[in-house]
Amino acid sequence: MKDRRHSLTGYYKETNEDLWLWDDLPDLDMEVGYKVGALLHYEQSSFQEISIVETKGFGRMLVLDGTPQVTSKDGFIYNEMITHIAMATHPEPRKVAMIGGGDCGPARKALKYASVQQIDVVEIDPRVIEVCRLWMTKEADPARGELIRTVLKDGYKWIQEQKNKYDVLLVDRSDPYGPAVSLYKQQFYQYVYDSLTDEGIVVFQSGSPYYNSDILKKTISRLKKLFPIVRTYLCSIPSFPGGIWSFTVASKKWDPLEANLNGLPWEETKYVNPEIFRASFVLPNYIKNKLEEK
Ligand code: SAM
Repeated sequence: MKDRRHSLTGYYKETNEDLWLWDDLPDLDMEVGYKVGALLHYEQSSFQEISIVETKGFGRMLVLDGTPQVTSKDGFIYNEMITHIAMATHPEPRKVAMIGGGDCGPARKALKYASVQQIDVVEIDPRVIEVCRLWMTKEADPARGELIRTVLKDGYKWIQEQKNKYDVLLVDRSDPYGPAVSLYKQQFYQYVYDSLTDEGIVVFQSGSPYYNSDILKKTISRLKKLFPIVRTYLCSIPSFPGGIWSFTVASKKWDPLEANLNGLPWEETKYVNPEIFRASFVLPNYIKNKLEEK
């Protein structure tokens, strides 16, 4: 194997007996290494480099363009936190959509809400979904799995055709490289706003607040121009660089800080519960200060 198989934001490297995945943190002169037990799958699709590895520390991992996306050991944290905050805030989410499919973890979490009638999962790269079905989540479709509809399209183009339609939208975008770049454009946020009903709510993966506060700041400022309620919340994901991660929720009517959390599927969750839900909106001063910087 070549030393650098590919390098957009990460690469594999063999040292003596061991294989390592090195996640490059662009502009920071820093890399995070994951020891890999086995490289199970590797391909270059029409959109990106897709690989599945068995890691020593985090179990099975989906890696796109050298960047870890989800792992079998701690993926539940990301999936629960991108899904439940918005889903639990809306009193009756019926139509739900998700941009960025991958292993479709958030869609499975959203199915836990009895009011849900339809979940559209929009994924640009059919190979990611096929590879994940083969190597990642093996469980059969959960009850009501037929409510999940996969749309194989670029989310940036797809969203332009959706008007006043969704109660909840989950933007499970990759970092702003490769096919996900368009999901960070200013115009994208307007399309997202237009796709939601008058009571709609959306959540974005908004990056590491420690390493990429510029992404977070931009996401917040663009959303604040459109939505009356914009709130950032945090969680800890051990496999992600720095451990701390941010999501930003924007809502036309319902405020997550006033959400009624009774009767929700908390007994089935492994990370989020009503206390975590409330506490996740409390930001440390260093992040508050960064967000206030001009
Ligand atoms: N949480 C997911 C899981 O459980 O696997 C990981 C999703 S990963 C963060 C982001 C996904 O967005 C990838 O599958 C990638 O192919 C997809 N994606 C990137 N750019 C996209 C675009 N423009 N439109 C739709 N999907 C896109």
